[in-house]
Amino acid sequence: MRFREIEGGRAMDLTRRRMMQTALAGAGGLAMGVAPRWAHAALDLGAMRIDTLSDGHLVLPPEFIFGPMPQAELGPVLEARGIVPGAPLTPECNVTLLRSGENTILFDTGAGPAFQESAGKIGAALDALDVAPEDVTHVIFTHAHPDHLWGVLDDFDEPFFYEAEHMIGKTEWEYWTDPKTVDTIQPERTTMAVGAQRRLMAMEDAMRFFEDGEEILPGVAAVSTPGHTPGHMSFEIRDGSESVMVIGDAIGNHHVAFARPDWHSGSDQDRDLGAATRVALMDRMATEQMRLIGFHLPGGGMGRAEKGGDGYRFVQES
Ligand SMILES: [Zn+2]
Repeated sequence: MRFREIEGGRAMDLTRRRMMQTALAGAGGLAMGVAPRWAHAALDLGAMRIDTLSDGHLVLPPEFIFGPMPQAELGPVLEARGIVPGAPLTPECNVTLLRSGENTILFDTGAGPAFQESAGKIGAALDALDVAPEDVTHVIFTHAHPDHLWGVLDDFDEPFFYEAEHMIGKTEWEYWTDPKTVDTIQPERTTMAVGAQRRLMAMEDAMRFFEDGEEILPGVAAVSTPGHTPGHMSFEIRDGSESVMVIGDAIGNHHVAFARPDWHSGSDQDRDLGAATRVALMDRMATEQMRLIGFHLPGGGMGRAEKGGDGYRFVQES
């Protein structure tokens, strides 16, 4: 097993349709012949190859995560990790690509063209690895938040990965497609609910459902990690004794989520459950020294959790 980090990339063999999509997505760098740059991490797991694709980054008000935390204790935690109090957070968005035998598998689709201007860049990241959207055989969702799901449809509202079977946990599907959810979710999350319902229903015929513990593809097992959303799933990718856990947003950042996994995070829909899940997952990752890939962790998102001080720290591997 080895880790590598690659900076930059090159667009190859753009079809007319994809050039159009790229232009519409506002990725002007490609059209002007300027090489795009993004963080990218990779590892080999037995015969499997895992890359992370940058979908860009988000821009979030700090209260979105820090709001419910004990503010007096929060200051020193942020300071120790170089986070400027009050400044917007700009977490990376890292989509995991697994190539295993005949299968080309994506974990989440990124944000697509309609969420934030700084995200939705996965097309360029795929191009750099010479993977076309139609080469993707399976799309597996961790959860149905915009930065993970909305890239499922392209600028024309058609499936972006149109040859792929799509998979989502049964609980997550049932929650977001329930017509009552739009009215019962916290008011500030209504847009998320409307957006998720529309996109999931558009994909219904291509969708397969799975439950906690299922081996959904050879070497890929679903691990229930709820709280961030009601049916959030992580995925254990295994080859013999080696494994990696794709954790989605169960551990959502490299600062407070590691330092104080027990604190409530404003980004979790069920804050008690989100914290309990994070504490248990963090303990397992650190005890087993299992590699993890976090959607919003830095440098492409690959690393390990290490116990230290009162909490943990993220050790990036590249
Ligand atoms: Zn996210």
